[in-house]
Amino acid sequence: MPESTLSITLIEPPKAAAKPAPVAPATPKSAMQKALEKLGLKRDIDLALHLPLRYEDETRITQLRDAREGDTIQIEAQVLECEISFRPRRQLLVKVDDGSDVCTLRFFNFYPNQQKALAVGNRIRARGEVRGGFLGWTMLHPSFKPAGGELPTALTPVYPTVAGMPQAYLRKAVLSGLARAELSDTFAPGDLSRLNTHALWTLRQALHFLHHPTPDVSLDTLQDHSHPAWQRLKAEELLAQQLSQLQSRRARAALRAPELKGRVGDTLHARLLQTLPFALTKAQQRVGFEIAKDMAHHQPMHRLLQGDVGAGKTVVAALAATICIDAGWQCALMAPTEILAEQHFRKLIGWLEPLGVKTAWLTGSQKTKSRREALDLIERGEAQLVVGTHAVIQDKVQFKNLALAIIDEQHRFGVAQRLALRNKLQHDAMEPHLLMMTATPIPRTLAMSYYADLDVSTIDELPPGRTPIITKVVNEARRDEVIQRIRAQIAQGRQIYWVCPLIEESEALDLTNATETHAELSAVLQDACPEGKPVTVGLLHSRMAQDEKKAVMAAFVAGEMAVLVSTTVIEVGVDVPNASLMVVEHAERFGLSQLHQLRGRVGRGAAASACVLLYSTGDAPRLSEHARERLRAMAETNDGFEIARRDLEIRGPGEFLGSRQSGDAMLRFADLATDGDLLEWARKEAPLMLDHHPHLAEKHVQRWLGTKAEFLKA
Ligand code: ADP
Ligand code: MG
Repeated sequence: MPESTLSITLIEPPKAAAKPAPVAPATPKSAMQKALEKLGLKRDIDLALHLPLRYEDETRITQLRDAREGDTIQIEAQVLECEISFRPRRQLLVKVDDGSDVCTLRFFNFYPNQQKALAVGNRIRARGEVRGGFLGWTMLHPSFKPAGGELPTALTPVYPTVAGMPQAYLRKAVLSGLARAELSDTFAPGDLSRLNTHALWTLRQALHFLHHPTPDVSLDTLQDHSHPAWQRLKAEELLAQQLSQLQSRRARAALRAPELKGRVGDTLHARLLQTLPFALTKAQQRVGFEIAKDMAHHQPMHRLLQGDVGAGKTVVAALAATICIDAGWQCALMAPTEILAEQHFRKLIGWLEPLGVKTAWLTGSQKTKSRREALDLIERGEAQLVVGTHAVIQDKVQFKNLALAIIDEQHRFGVAQRLALRNKLQHDAMEPHLLMMTATPIPRTLAMSYYADLDVSTIDELPPGRTPIITKVVNEARRDEVIQRIRAQIAQGRQIYWVCPLIEESEALDLTNATETHAELSAVLQDACPEGKPVTVGLLHSRMAQDEKKAVMAAFVAGEMAVLVSTTVIEVGVDVPNASLMVVEHAERFGLSQLHQLRGRVGRGAAASACVLLYSTGDAPRLSEHARERLRAMAETNDGFEIARRDLEIRGPGEFLGSRQSGDAMLRFADLATDGDLLEWARKEAPLMLDHHPHLAEKHVQRWLGTKAEFLKA
């Protein structure tokens, strides 16, 4: 242990911790216990690993005269006045004096016994944020208790909690969990020394410290998680994640899958390649080879195929499907929405049916009769290729011999759905191969952490002949110019997307906005076509029936509609090469990856394409820093990987993981944007630990992931 850290190690928990645990009361499961479980706090170790969000410094009393606006301080003062005021609304106003200045405490909610505790003449200790208003210092809803009593010597932790779980109770529960938990190290502090000579803390030391830091520690290093105790915890967490992913990888290696060996000669695969109207890019050939190699193996493939929007993933999927069908097995292709599924269906039919492949179609909205027919074809094995939404993985669907499942936009598919899919092949205890496709490129650190259990193939090249999309960020005030631009595009026979934002709080508002824009554009664009043909402006929104949506999409795809106004973020994957302009209204409300996905809807043909990001600052004088950063990034680069990297920086990993989050695989403490070195360490350490200290590895995973571990292996 380095000299400098010795003074702040091993602070024993206060006596309170020795009291009987509040976790296991004698009464039937209390509300508190349920709240603890809701927080995922079941075992002592869970409680010990429930770390503070922040700390409050209750170790000192501040004089009001020394306070600064906005400080959170603790004062001891005498009550001068205590009265209920009714203007502007009912509130309790308590004027206190600490000898240096006076302050008014305001409470909008209060009980009679609180009023009693704040009676004139009483001395109290109050803690809250001070504001210096027109009427002198005020504190809104401070916490308070009688004055006097010892001041704590450690900072007071504030824990993440849920409604109905008071901090005081949670604090006690955590401290008693900490006192009881088994905390022996699974790896020596020295293992981290290569990385950071300050990180030489044991788990026990780190946890005790983080639950009771001494007041002399820099709050900044606690807040930004750079403190050595945090380094230890983050290293632990990342190691647990790596270990569990590695375990699931090794478990998968023990499973069997059909060996789908490509054949030579007059195969579907060869014929598809011959009939394609284009040559594959180098990148498509490479990933195709990686996939084919996996499928020929007797272990199930779990491969993620990533490629920017428009990179040409569909044809790679089709080629994989032909290998599977050539080998005499069934293939399923699933997409998260019906429109997207239908697109694939149409495209794949276009390629494969002329070659004699039998396809079936399954969705939720299907009529009973056609559904029954499809199910029948699938069960008898006559349908070689099954395309649909997650209707494909419902219980009723029985495949004769499913060997390859392809999932598009996999981050929208939950872990549970993937599990269901794997269970579709009961054939001789075998599992199907899985190919997951995503147009949201996964930044390297994410691929190394959350996706470490998958193999990744990347299409890093766009098909030739695409002209880069030009992106312009335009203030809403210049809407008229944008409409002029639309007229010019229509005059050239081009098509335009206009996307209105999703306002989560108010779907109704959302709709009004889109409806108004639709009416506006319909009116002003009427005469935009030079040959005098009427201009059709379509509207697509989330509340429309599936059939209506399809009809609108079909009209746009067929070129019968010049402009498509849409609220549902135009379904990922829509492919209309003639669309050359994308306008996004209120672009400031969209996430970076979302904007990139949207932009990818244009630039699919040879014509020069553009994306206009209309922003509005609303009542504010300017956009927020984040919004500006996002829009700037969009204008600066077309590279999906660069966009993804910046998105990760701005917003953290949530967006990339989608439903993966629900598997509770989220890192709570480590931050991939800043902890790359710890991640690298964990990645190297995990296989060594599994090989040389398997029992310690198991203990580590159990400790950190407990019952979640099984779920994460999906
Ligand atoms: P995504 O990766 O976004 O799913 P798609 O598979 O929809 O992309 O492909 C986008 C468009 O590019 C489609 O019209 C597709 O037919 C076409 N395409 C795919 N590969 C090539 C290629 N090698 N050369 C030319 N066009 C291609
Ligand atoms: Mg696609």
